Amino acid sequence: MRTLAIIKPDAVRKNVIGEITAKITAAGFRILGMKLMRISKQQAEAFYAVHSERPFFGELTDFMSSGPIVPIALEKDNAVEDFRTLIGSTNPAEAAEGTIRKLYASSIGENAVHGSDSEENGKIEVGFYFSEAELVANER
Ligand code: GDP
Repeated sequence: MRTLAIIKPDAVRKNVIGEITAKITAAGFRILGMKLMRISKQQAEAFYAVHSERPFFGELTDFMSSGPIVPIALEKDNAVEDFRTLIGSTNPAEAAEGTIRKLYASSIGENAVHGSDSEENGKIEVGFYFSEAELVANER
């Protein structure tokens, strides 16, 4: 199973790409694709379209387009659920000890990492950032 992780602009600004990637691989995820890039406000709006009616949509899409991000396509058994366990609750104040958000997130909005919330969304979100040709070379 695949899932999409994104190291968000706050974590890139804190210079913890390596620390976060190390926790991901230590938890048994295989990296199929990874890139450092920026997305426009319009691309952020497209990626988070399901949240377009939420009150924080403007803040979220401003934030995600405010600096470089690192999308990472991951593969593991039970990847979606296991990755959400590894990152912890949306709000770092409520995230369990040792989770990536507990360690590196600043606030409920600037929360260091994204993780897909279902197997179907994992496929769609991986496809938003990576072509299939970029991924299959790293599959076992
Ligand atoms: P996730 O699945 O844990 O990422 O959480 P959600 O799907 O509920 O929200 C998506 C993203 O929107 C979160 O990861 C946050 O970056 C952002 N977000 C959620 N709630 C808030 C909020 O109350 N304020 C702001 N500014 N951003 C939020």
